[in-house]
Amino acid sequence: MMEFETRAIHEGQAPDSVTGSVIVPIYMTSTYEQEAIGQHKGYEYSRTGNPTRTALEKALAAIESGKYGLAFASGVAATTTVLSLLKSGDNIIAGDDIYGGTYRLLERVVKNWGIETTYASVDDLTSFEKAIQPNTKLIWIETPTNPLLKIVDIKILSEIARRHNLILVVDNTFASPYFQRPLELGADIVVHSTTKYLGGHSDIIGGGVVTSNEELYQQLKFYQNAIGAVPSPLDSYLVLRGIKTLAVRMREHEKNALFLAQFLENHPKVDRIYYPGLPSHAQYHLAKQQMYGFGGMISLELKGGFAAVEEFVARLKLFFLAESLGGVESLVCYPAKMTHGSIPEEERLRRGIKNNLIRLSVGIENQKDLQEDLENALG
Ligand SMILES: *Cc1c(COP(=O)(O)O)cnc(C)c1O
Repeated sequence: MMEFETRAIHEGQAPDSVTGSVIVPIYMTSTYEQEAIGQHKGYEYSRTGNPTRTALEKALAAIESGKYGLAFASGVAATTTVLSLLKSGDNIIAGDDIYGGTYRLLERVVKNWGIETTYASVDDLTSFEKAIQPNTKLIWIETPTNPLLKIVDIKILSEIARRHNLILVVDNTFASPYFQRPLELGADIVVHSTTKYLGGHSDIIGGGVVTSNEELYQQLKFYQNAIGAVPSPLDSYLVLRGIKTLAVRMREHEKNALFLAQFLENHPKVDRIYYPGLPSHAQYHLAKQQMYGFGGMISLELKGGFAAVEEFVARLKLFFLAESLGGVESLVCYPAKMTHGSIPEEERLRRGIKNNLIRLSVGIENQKDLQEDLENALG
């Protein structure tokens, strides 16, 4: 098999057979002429399939070391489609440190379909096994978690899932497939918000699903078409373009994040820092073992509570205050009111997302400029 960088640029992206175009064209068409009734070239209608999307789906599979990829209109659309594998009366076990929008989907949408979610502590994986009920069908986790950047042992969870015949889903958005490939560690399905690192330029909303299990793929492909939350050809093209430079961007994101994490760790105004690439991180060794790198996300707690947070955020110039992550530009986010605002306060605090917690998505600007911006804001 070719190496990661090569797969990202070549898989599913051979030159166009008609014109020789080196870049996969943006096929802006809703439908396809059929030669005769029941006879076509593999495409009938663009919700079902579109050649630009097919190229993206093959690339997604290739960079996740999977066999089959599916692209969606958003990460949440990808999540919704995966959760459609379940039926009324089924149970899900989810990690207790997950994306706020996934929590909202589980509690306010999927619950209404008669599917209950039990939350297990990612700090103690035996809690997952203890939570398993006769009707449990699926385990859903993120790692590194959002926003506390805890590392969950995918291999151990995949063994638990296999023993109990459960589907293990890993949301791999934070690490990106350049730094972590859950299918290699035994996960059944990988989910992405391609809005983040894969797109990489904060210009689209998209999602992806990868699996190597043929049976799951056939079901997911059916639901992709039946539910219809598919990306446009233009969005598919933009994610495909992002994937080509994923490796070089991730190396820069990580280099900058490590540099800033070291700086912040020693700063007197910082109470606590969360970055899996620091030896002081509680799961540094696990991160080293299961990941190929530590990524570009940092979380920190400021001394002085919410007032300090407000001042810090207001003084930043390069780090834009915004939701999202994974773009080339640096962003700062206040999880309590932004990404995790949909979680009730009591529940949020129980999960360790304090009122002085800040999340940074470290971009690929010059690291000295980023450091100076943080230093001024902390000042
Ligand atoms: C952003 C995000 C999602 C949701 O993706 P959208 O593209 O916003 O729908 C899911 N999981 C994680 C970890 C995310 O960061």
